[in-house]
Formats: sequence, structure tokens, C-alpha cells
Amino acid sequence: MKKTRVRFAPSPTGYLHVGGARTALFNFLFAKHTGGEFIIRIEDTDRERSTGEFEEKLLEDLSWLGLKWDEGPGKGGDLGPYRQTERMDIYKEHALRLVAGKRAFPCFCTNEELDAKREEMKNAGAPPQYDGTCRHLTDVEREERRDRGLPESIRFSVEGEGDRTIADMARGDVSFPAGMVGDFVILRSNGLPTYNFAAALDDSLMKITHVIRGAEHLANTLRQVMIYDALGMQQPQFAHIPLILGEDRTKLSKRHGAPNIMDYRKKGYPAEAVVNYLAFLGWSTKGDSEILSMDDLIGEFELERVSDSPSIFDEAKLNWVSASHVRAGGSERYLDEATPFFPGAIRERYGAESLGKIFDILSDNLPSFSMIEHETDPFMPVPLSFDDDATAALEGCGELLKIFARSFAQLEPWDVEGIKQVIKDSGKEAGVKGKGLYMPLRAAVTGRGHGPDLTAILLVKGKDDVISALEAAGIA
Ligand code: GLU
Repeated sequence: MKKTRVRFAPSPTGYLHVGGARTALFNFLFAKHTGGEFIIRIEDTDRERSTGEFEEKLLEDLSWLGLKWDEGPGKGGDLGPYRQTERMDIYKEHALRLVAGKRAFPCFCTNEELDAKREEMKNAGAPPQYDGTCRHLTDVEREERRDRGLPESIRFSVEGEGDRTIADMARGDVSFPAGMVGDFVILRSNGLPTYNFAAALDDSLMKITHVIRGAEHLANTLRQVMIYDALGMQQPQFAHIPLILGEDRTKLSKRHGAPNIMDYRKKGYPAEAVVNYLAFLGWSTKGDSEILSMDDLIGEFELERVSDSPSIFDEAKLNWVSASHVRAGGSERYLDEATPFFPGAIRERYGAESLGKIFDILSDNLPSFSMIEHETDPFMPVPLSFDDDATAALEGCGELLKIFARSFAQLEPWDVEGIKQVIKDSGKEAGVKGKGLYMPLRAAVTGRGHGPDLTAILLVKGKDDVISALEAAGIA
């Protein structure tokens, strides 16, 4: 069987966003599931909006997500170049081939003329389409226009095109009636190819077997299949993946706080959690668990399980998925990645081993490492502040805190059993139990009314800090 070859073809006009990353991921998973190749092609023909910096950041984000490409920028390959601006001669050659075969023609209409005609058609209630003005010009008429210095683009001719049905691996057959598109530009007057022409040609020349991209490209696919046929090139198979919507069911955008992948990276979400979350935007597993590693996803990914209805971007679900990864991986897996997110004061105060213990205490519910900053106050030697519940819990507890401080001072060694015993004994001595015993201790030592396992916190803070905190709270 032919080896699968798929591509992700970003335009470097912005940072990698959730939608682009999901498309890249589906392509990558499909390639790896089928033992094929994943190719990156940079579609940088929008010269004004494309920048080298965006390209660099896109590639950096793809690498961070773990989507390693087999061919593409920085990697090379036999069917390059992989940047469209380096393929200009190829586009020109094939555009002229289409002109020679009468499937395309030079067009000399100016933008002003085209705008005016579009307006007229709109006013007449007709879909604005090219009206064929330059389709059948004679050679003499063409030369005459060239002599006048008119801009010359090349348009694909849709003459003779009938109804089309595109077989889509994710959504079944999609049909388009004849006449949906007019003659469309394939090479602009400035020599740059349009997206549809460059993409179709490159997909063919790069021997792409499957084109997997967002459903918003369906109308483009119609144009692209016309181009394949006109060039006598074989079509790839198509899979259009569902749109991603915000919670208000409109197309996901910045307005929804839909961040770029880089934002997640900066916030300290583990890459595998982001990948896991993205995989479920329009795809589902056969199994029960929704917490899957990259290898699991590769093993399970099938285009047939891609949904044909839009998926909703849900940050709460991302947090749930991410927290599950962090909890399962703990400090062993994540401490290195998370260390830069600890406040300097905590990093200075504790060694790597204790930082790992703190991480494990927090990892019970830690969707992103940036949350560490707010969760480490309880580990400062003496709480920097007290929340309302802690303040309330400390009311009238001076005697109890003194008993705690005295008993902890005698504890040797400082271990879980000993700590638990001291708490029990102190309670007996002060005549309190349950909440009345634990809440003041937690409040004094952490400054908070609620939080992770108290014994674990006491253990990692150490005897001296616990006593200082108890004394400070007792005096206050
Ligand atoms: N450059 C196009 C985009 O970013 C690629 C679409 C495609 O995959 O063909 O939308």
C-alpha cells in the first residue's frame, strides 16, 4: 500500500492558535497511526502579512507540542522546497501549462472594474462571480491590453464544469451543484499564486495522499479538485474536520479568550495535556478514558471517528484534562518543567527534594504550573497574609496555639506519625477536637482556611517554621 503522506500548511501570518494546532495534530496522528509521513509546508505567499518571526514561533510551538515533522523547514526532504515563496517558478510553469491547455486565461480586468461589476451583481441579487470578460480574448486582444500596460493575472476557467461530489473521509460525500464558482484567479498580476492554486499544486507535487483540514476550507476544496483534474494530477483524499466554536456557539476567536498555543506554554500547561485536550475537539475515542498520552492517541486515531458537527472549546475541560495529567505524573514527571514557576522565595527556602514534595501536595489539583505561584503561600515560613476563614478560625485560639507550639517543639523525629500524635495530644490537652482543632492549626501555619493535606504541609515546612508560624499567629 502507498505510504500515507499528510501535511500541515500554516500561513505564517500569526501565532499558532487552537484551530491550527488541532489541524496539525490530526494530521500528525493520522500519519503516525498509518505509519506514514507528516510534512510541514509554509504557505507564505501573503507577503504583507507573513513574517519570519511568525514562522519561527509556529515551528517552535509545533515542536513543543511534540508534532515532529518528517519533511519541512529545517528538516529538508526530497520534494521541497517547503516554503511557497521558494516555489514561484513551479507555480508559473503550471499556470502557463493551464493557459496553453485552455483551462486558464490571462485576465486584464482592473480591480476597479471587478469591484464595480461585483457591486452590480450584488444589487441584482445574483451571487458575485467573474463574468468571463477575458475568457475568450484573441491573441491580438491580449497583446493590445498588454501594450496598454494593464495588470495581467491568470484565471482558471470553470467553463464546462458540472456538478461535483467530493468524497470526504470524515463527513461522507459532499456535493456542489455546477455554477457555484466563477473563473477564479490562480496567479495574481504581481506573479504570486493564490492559495487554492499553490495548495493544490503543492499537495500534488509533494505526493500528499490525504488532505486533512478545517471544514471552512470545503469551498476551497471544490476549486482545488477542478485544478487537479485540469492538470491531470491525482487528487488526494479529503477529510474536513469540524469547526471549533466558543461556548456561545460562534466561531472561536480571541474574543473567547481563545489563546494561542504559546499562551498555554507560558501559563505552564504540560504539552501532552494540551495535545490530549485538542485531540478531543472533534474526535472521540473508542475506549472509556479521555486521558490519553500521545502514544495512546496515535494508536487510536481514525478519521472515521472524526465528528461532523462543530466542537465547543471549553477551558474548564482543558483544565480537567491537564490536572489529570499533572496528578498522574507528579513531581517525578513535572518538577523540572514546573520549577521556574515557583516563586523565588520558595525556591530559595527549599531544596529540590522539598520542592518536589510541595509539588506533589499541590498536584492534587493543578491544571497549570502558573497556578503554583498562588498556591505556595502556605509554604512560606510564616504566612504573609490570612484569608477570612483563617482569621475567623484563629479567633480565641491563643491557648491552643501555645500548646501546639510547645508540643511540636518536643517532637523528634519530625515525621507523619509524630505530627499526627502531637495534634491528637494537643487536642486532648486543650479539650478540643475535629474542626476546632485542625482549623486553627491550618490557619496559623498556612494563613488559609482550606487547602491540601495539612500533615503533608507540616512535614515539608519543618519544625522550625511551624513553630514560628504558631507563635506569630498566637501573638497576632
Ligand atoms: N494556509 C492555509 C491555512 O492556513 C492552509 C489550508 C490547507 O490546509 O489547505 O488555512
